[in-house]
Amino acid sequence: MSVTYPHIFRPLDLGFTTLKNRVLMGSMHTNLEETKDWNRVAEFYAERARGGVALMVTGGIAPNHEGGVFPGAAGLYTEEDVAHHKIVTDRVHASDGKIAMQILHAGRYAYGPDCVGPSAVKSPISPFPPKELDEEGIEKQISDIAQTARRAQEAGYDGVEIMGSEGYFINQFLVTHTNKRTDRWGGSYENRMRLPIEIIKRVRAAVGDDFIIIYRLSMIDLIPNGSTHEEVVQLAQAVEAAGATIINTGIGWHEARIPTIATSVPRAAFAWVTKKLMGKVSIPVITSNRINTPEVAEDVLATGCADMVSMARPFLADPHFVVKAAAGKSAEIAPCIACNQACLDHTFSGKISSCLVNPKACFETELVVKPTSSPKKVAVVGAGPAGVMAAVTAAQCGHAVHLYDRADRVGGQINLAKQIPGKEEFHGLVDWFEAMIQATGVSLHLQTEATVEAMAGFDHIIIATGVVPRDPEISGQDRPNVHSYIDVLNGSAQLGKRVAVIGAGGIGFDVSEFLVHEGTSPTIDLPAWMAEWGVGDPEITAGGLSEAGPVPHAPAREVYLLQRKSEKLGKRLGKTTGWIHRSALKMKGVKMMGGVNYEAISDKGLHITFGPARETPTVLEVDDVVLCAGQVSERRLFEALKETGIPVDIIGGAHLAAELDAKAAINQGVRLALEL
Ligand code: NAP
Ligand code: SF4
Repeated sequence: MSVTYPHIFRPLDLGFTTLKNRVLMGSMHTNLEETKDWNRVAEFYAERARGGVALMVTGGIAPNHEGGVFPGAAGLYTEEDVAHHKIVTDRVHASDGKIAMQILHAGRYAYGPDCVGPSAVKSPISPFPPKELDEEGIEKQISDIAQTARRAQEAGYDGVEIMGSEGYFINQFLVTHTNKRTDRWGGSYENRMRLPIEIIKRVRAAVGDDFIIIYRLSMIDLIPNGSTHEEVVQLAQAVEAAGATIINTGIGWHEARIPTIATSVPRAAFAWVTKKLMGKVSIPVITSNRINTPEVAEDVLATGCADMVSMARPFLADPHFVVKAAAGKSAEIAPCIACNQACLDHTFSGKISSCLVNPKACFETELVVKPTSSPKKVAVVGAGPAGVMAAVTAAQCGHAVHLYDRADRVGGQINLAKQIPGKEEFHGLVDWFEAMIQATGVSLHLQTEATVEAMAGFDHIIIATGVVPRDPEISGQDRPNVHSYIDVLNGSAQLGKRVAVIGAGGIGFDVSEFLVHEGTSPTIDLPAWMAEWGVGDPEITAGGLSEAGPVPHAPAREVYLLQRKSEKLGKRLGKTTGWIHRSALKMKGVKMMGGVNYEAISDKGLHITFGPARETPTVLEVDDVVLCAGQVSERRLFEALKETGIPVDIIGGAHLAAELDAKAAINQGVRLALEL
């Protein structure tokens, strides 16, 4: 047992089987199953089994066509499907792992015309109204779920997770918000909870006693008229009596307008909700959401919030999370920064999930670190995300790597991002870069200008010199009250109370967030964060929405956020997180303006007009203007080195500044290093 994390490494005896520690890998839909490349699916899970997690839950598998999250979603319908899943379970078991298959019926969240639900109440996040099920239809859903569980057992799974939360089918029966029925499946709470209990009983009857049944229970719905805490407890006790082995926590319906997993959500923000159930049931209870380090997991367990913790995205970031924690190498665990950029944003765009910090996630069969047969002396210039990850990966392959940067620490623009309230996780990313540079033996040369002369003697050079701010060429931009975002975020510019931000890309949004905020970031102050978003106590208000609603702190400044495009501001931000950034700025009264022309900056303020005809001349009477007008590549060293004859590659922002972000930079760095 680990001395550092004694609660994490305590085995959990389930009677018929024992889990070797208290860590569950929560379900994630990666779109891998839909590739039908079962070797690839198997390797994804086997790699995490080798990483020491006690039990994994697969992405959601549909029990039938109407319940699939989208038409064609993976199901377990035929003997051939069972044989494919057996490839996965065999590989996991050979790697000393355990795996449960999630059965996910989407109900009215199914993105297809055949979707069904308790009542014909359309969801705000799907264009398809569900068909109200009749008695026979409900029986079919129960029977399909039980049969899917039996097939999962046949396929070698150690258990199933029945998805009863996040606003999916089963959850839709539980609350009057979506269940308007007057028959035995609606009305009283006993009637509304009949469906989950019937499902668990029928699944237990189908699989026998020695099979794990996890029931994922929504502990706080975060929607109007959600479940009350008494109902949650009543359901949990009935779930236990019906034959479930473990209760896992679900937080918030997908249609909730409160962030539940984004990077600005405090760590372990909802563990207190799960804790309310502790002692009310005798089966193990799992908590989840924004648990991303062994320290947080240990604290959650040690303070009695749950019997086990579920982490999902952290296992994309680092499949070896658990073994590294056990070995006292917590600093080497690649941190999930909860950005959603390569995981959920990919899933919801129909792409294969991966991870911003670990492009090997879901690409285990393609991106493999192997010892090189021809070690080279490699120089990497630029210690931002692209350069660091190229250097570390090349060193892992056995090359002798020297990493140069003129700054006094690694991380590049991540060091600016970490100043934004709500982006505190970026501190951990820079710390991890440093830990990995040390662990892999990269020779680090900070505060060092890499010149053409200094590059002589290297076999290969990788240029990752990043970007410089674009010059927007606005008349008056050389005035002392006009600043680059770099000066604002590194603290060298002091700004007045009224500010215009030019450019509404990711950085314009971030800078606006920085400017309207003062004091402690709500992301590291849970009560402040809950008040800001209107999260209450489900023991006081049904569903856990606070009576007062969102109560944001007064903005520190009056901010205008501007762009030339006439489209909605923030349209190109992350698919699953853009709404959070827009809502956060709206709550702080940021005035967002599109279709703007920047005419001049004078002592009166920023002069703008609107549209192609340059109409409605307006002066924004601001004290300061911040330029966030995008970037251009810094390629001077690359161009000079091309003359030397030494093989040289260029990656990250230095290669392509447009649409560049840390995800693309790290991906490019890792892939190039593996090809050296
Ligand atoms: P960006 O996303 O390209 O945005 C640049 C902004 O500047 C746009 O709003 C653009 O809008 C404006 N602009 C472009 N040329 C201009 C000019 N000549 N004069 C005035 N305005 C001009 O770049 P960024 O905001 O600098 O971000 C850099 C990268 O980091 C992006 O890929 C971004 O996605 C990423 N990032 C991501 C996040 C995140 O949360 N995911 C956060 C920060 C940064 P108009 O052309 O319409 O004026
Ligand atoms: Fe975490 Fe971001 Fe990686 Fe997703 S892409 S697993 S949120 S670090």
